[in-house]
Amino acid sequence: MNLAAVLTDLDGTLLEHGGVLGPEARAAVDELRRRGIPVVPLTSKTEAELRSLLAELDLGGIGGFENGAAVLGPSGVVASGRAIGVELLEGRLDELSRRSGLALSPATRMSTRELCRITGLPEERIPAMLARRFGLPFLAPEGAGPALAAAVRGFPGLRLTRGGLFWHLSGDHGKEDSLDLLLRAGLVKRPFAGFGDAPNDAGFLGRCDVAILVPGPSGAVDAGLVSALPAGRVAPFPAGRGWAAAAMALLEELSR
Ligand SMILES: [Mg+2]
Repeated sequence: MNLAAVLTDLDGTLLEHGGVLGPEARAAVDELRRRGIPVVPLTSKTEAELRSLLAELDLGGIGGFENGAAVLGPSGVVASGRAIGVELLEGRLDELSRRSGLALSPATRMSTRELCRITGLPEERIPAMLARRFGLPFLAPEGAGPALAAAVRGFPGLRLTRGGLFWHLSGDHGKEDSLDLLLRAGLVKRPFAGFGDAPNDAGFLGRCDVAILVPGPSGAVDAGLVSALPAGRVAPFPAGRGWAAAAMALLEELSR
């Protein structure tokens, strides 16, 4: 088997948990580039965050962002048919609020001062928090989870996730939707390997010719990811160091 591309999650997979690229991962990315194998990020980060990482890591300008909502390629941004723009999501959230009787507050309608108070973030970090084009962070009352989940189930095409303080409403898409768009556009070709560290990577990893599971900081792979991909290979170390070792082992194997 040759290898035509490497698809990868960023945080905790290619990048360290602090978001930086370590020296081993840098060397592995350079080696893949030398061999003409593109490294394509599939991330939950925003378009702006993806663009700056692509430029910084010299990764070739192709990737998927906002958890499968859209891809970035040579002809610009292409959104998934499942993606829902943030203005429409605000309307859906109002409807969810009415139907469930829960007070749901979108971050997009809060002042910078209020958001700083709630998140503890400095003012300059707030614009990045609101930069999502296809996802809406919002607050719900304590203990609202079950009622909220039930209300969202009544709305086909919506996905509800929880991230710390905020809940998150989006279209019902995952990183595998980005992969489909890239395959259809001919921007990624088989065979390809995929790297991920969390259950939200399972969808795209399941479509990869080789799936590599990257351990978390404790040294163990997330249990949900292992049960979704029991045949996946496990990288020998957490994050970028494990990414690099597994990528180099794969190249070595392919050259035999
Ligand atoms: Mg991750």
